[in-house]
Amino acid sequence: MNYLEKIKKLKPVLWVNPNKINSKQALEKIDMKYDDILDAEERLKRFAPLIKKLFPETIDGIIESPLVEINNMKKELDKLYNYKLDGKLLLKCDNYLKVAGSIKARGGIYEVLKHAEKIAIDNNIIKLEDDYSILSDYKDLFSKYKIAVGSTGNLGLSIGIISSALGFQVDVHMSNDAKEWKKEILRSKGVNVIEYSDDYSKAVEEGRKQCLKDKNCYFIDDENSKDLFLGYAVAALRLKKQLDNLNISISDENPLYVYLPCGVGGAPGGITFGLKYVFGDNVHSYFVEPTHAPCMLLGLLTRKFNNIHVKDFGIDNITEADGLAVGSPSKLVSEIADMLIDGIYTIEDNELFKLLSLIKDAENIKLEPSSAASLKGPYIIKENGIHIAWATGGLLVPENIYNKMYERGKL
Ligand SMILES: *Cc1c(COP(=O)(O)O)cnc(C)c1O
Repeated sequence: MNYLEKIKKLKPVLWVNPNKINSKQALEKIDMKYDDILDAEERLKRFAPLIKKLFPETIDGIIESPLVEINNMKKELDKLYNYKLDGKLLLKCDNYLKVAGSIKARGGIYEVLKHAEKIAIDNNIIKLEDDYSILSDYKDLFSKYKIAVGSTGNLGLSIGIISSALGFQVDVHMSNDAKEWKKEILRSKGVNVIEYSDDYSKAVEEGRKQCLKDKNCYFIDDENSKDLFLGYAVAALRLKKQLDNLNISISDENPLYVYLPCGVGGAPGGITFGLKYVFGDNVHSYFVEPTHAPCMLLGLLTRKFNNIHVKDFGIDNITEADGLAVGSPSKLVSEIADMLIDGIYTIEDNELFKLLSLIKDAENIKLEPSSAASLKGPYIIKENGIHIAWATGGLLVPENIYNKMYERGKL
């Protein structure tokens, strides 16, 4: 059976990308550059005093997550997959990112801050060298502006939480699969939640349309935004420092493998882009998607990029992996991923729950199902090197809901 037949039959696959080119050539073709990542990192530093004031749970206003070795989990996975993994297995714990509880705390928050900075500078409130913590006194100013976004849940949470903390009006357009508890958190923060009976693409389309009518509205466009992408890319610079602190150096002999859950592609794409600047061809990036929502895989495999929807292939786009329930990939990211990534594997929902329970028992780490997808990667690729499973969400999942997911994984 060829790839497409298997994918349509919802069978888990590993697809190896035949269009990957070397990192130097690829990075030359992309119009965002290393300086753009540094610029994003600098902007996040300028905002740190404000974030520290608004969110004292962060470490000095920098929203970053730990990188930890998960040896107990590795033993369990060796048993589960009946394979002894060579090399270290680490978890990048974006499931514990402060403020938004998911990887969306990177791109989403970054883009809102960039927009807020522009408004503040245009209104002569701050200069680049000022202490940005004074911005918390300007909620009245920000309240004249609106931020809008379409989301399956987590992006809405991150944009809603940061925007309302700054004082913006916020509209979050939620797709049908968005969880009720996420809507409740947002409403409790005064965010205007608009619900759709359709999927993510529709929520984005409708949100974009409504926002265009209002000149004070700024739309965060998950399908095309370079700012979101660069916010994610900053993770690579910080990961390099974390690896250094663990005395792990990446080289030809000791390559890095990262496994990244993919929805529309911004988060895994931005991180891969950053990692290619830092580690060049010594980093190998694999995306993972649910068997019921393999949009990036279909976009790259058919080379139609964003011009596909999983439903075109008879696939329903229904999965418990909220952040990954996306029918069409980002245009911006699919074209970049085509050059940069090593491949994509797909995974079934039941296995996500199994992994979610396993890591709870082995390491006492709380993940949401999307996050757990990354844990299988090393056992599919079976290479020797440093393996980083990227956990992408989990912190904010209410206990009763988490417990149900945990129980499902124990079945
Ligand atoms: C959004 C999300 C992803 C994927 O990010 P994209 O930018 O949509 O590809 C992965 N995991 C979780 C938990 C998410 O919320």
